[in-house]
Amino acid sequence: MAKVIKDVGCPYCGACCDDVEVTVSDDGKKILEVANVCAIGAEIFKHASREDRVKLPRMRQPDGTYKDVSYTEAIDFTAKMLVKAKKPLIFGFGSTNCEAMSSAAKVAEKAGAVLDNCASICHGSSFLAMFDNGYPSCTLGETKNRADVVVYWGSNPAHAHPRHMSRYAMFPRGFFTGKGVMGRKVITVDPRFTDTARVSDIHLQVKQGHDYELFNAFRMVVRGFEADIPDVVAGIKKEQILEVAEIMKNARFGTIFYGMGLCHSDGRNHNVDEAISLTRDLNETTKWTIMAMRGHYNITGPGAVWSWQFGFPYCLDLTKKNMAHMNPGETSSIDLAMRDEIDAFINIGTDAGAHFPIEAVKHIKKHPMVTIDPNICMASEISDLHIPVGIVGVEVAGIVYRMDNVPIQYRKVIDPPEGVISDEELFERIYQRMCELEA
Ligand code: SF4
Repeated sequence: MAKVIKDVGCPYCGACCDDVEVTVSDDGKKILEVANVCAIGAEIFKHASREDRVKLPRMRQPDGTYKDVSYTEAIDFTAKMLVKAKKPLIFGFGSTNCEAMSSAAKVAEKAGAVLDNCASICHGSSFLAMFDNGYPSCTLGETKNRADVVVYWGSNPAHAHPRHMSRYAMFPRGFFTGKGVMGRKVITVDPRFTDTARVSDIHLQVKQGHDYELFNAFRMVVRGFEADIPDVVAGIKKEQILEVAEIMKNARFGTIFYGMGLCHSDGRNHNVDEAISLTRDLNETTKWTIMAMRGHYNITGPGAVWSWQFGFPYCLDLTKKNMAHMNPGETSSIDLAMRDEIDAFINIGTDAGAHFPIEAVKHIKKHPMVTIDPNICMASEISDLHIPVGIVGVEVAGIVYRMDNVPIQYRKVIDPPEGVISDEELFERIYQRMCELEA
């Protein structure tokens, strides 16, 4: 008899849907069906049952082919690489659990490495703004239960977080939002007419890279200086700015969800700074909140885990004994790689091969490189060693942090392929081997 497991977390995007239902075979080895999951989330679950999964570490040979090796050999190679390197970089972590992040931090500290996560190339600029200006945020539950106005700024959840609108922000009926979508106004600010804009009440087609000016215009109106703003700001007519500012001021509860269209267009952290300031200004008359649309399901995790352990969320330089140091630009992964400052690289729970600029990848490739990932990806294909691991949320349980900083316990629904270990166990064994090598 097939078994249905309820309240499963989806290990794909930062919306972290935790109402997924997974039907598994009698023997608990195969996933037969998934429900309450979007198309991209379903792929993760389907992938777990594929016959062609990599089940053993693969070491690159001198002729460029790969040879299967044991986990013991793979762990020995990685530990020796880290012990030998002067400045190794361990990067990624968007797609693994907090337990693995903590174990990796132990390894990084022992190796005197730089420890960095995908925020370095996504919402790192948001952190800089939060350090400067605070973060008047809320939980997604509060948005669902209270928000009557929602703004999506530089984010397109229809594609990137497909159930975000239905679970939290646009359609659901909540405690004080019983009319659901009928009682909410949704405003999208985006240079493109996205699928999110298509289902919104208002779309402001901001001129690409001019978000900062538009925030300033809203702040001027909210603070009573509307007479001083020009007829058009950032491609948006003054009448429309006044109309939207009025909606914002009259909201009972509002949330600005912003994405990389804001924190990675011209202005970066300064755009986010202004978004936070607008939220603060609106709080003088009503209740407004702001939230980063974090991409991967646990990219909020390393910020939480490492801030607790070291005091910094990303770009952690642990090369100096007993001291963590963070300075994006100096200690950020791509900058380090572009300057060819690192002499060993571990790619874990991400795909640096796909996401880093080619010049950075070329420098990284001059040195030993290990990829830890359940799947074959671009990074694994240019690595000296690829170590497969169990898929968190499917084959491995653990804690993940949702985009609103709420920790969620993810379940395991099936066993990993025989012999395949978890990220956490792998880092623990690498740590033990490093201790043996240095004894
Ligand atoms: Fe998974 Fe995100 Fe889709 Fe939810 S919206 S099912 S977390 S991919």
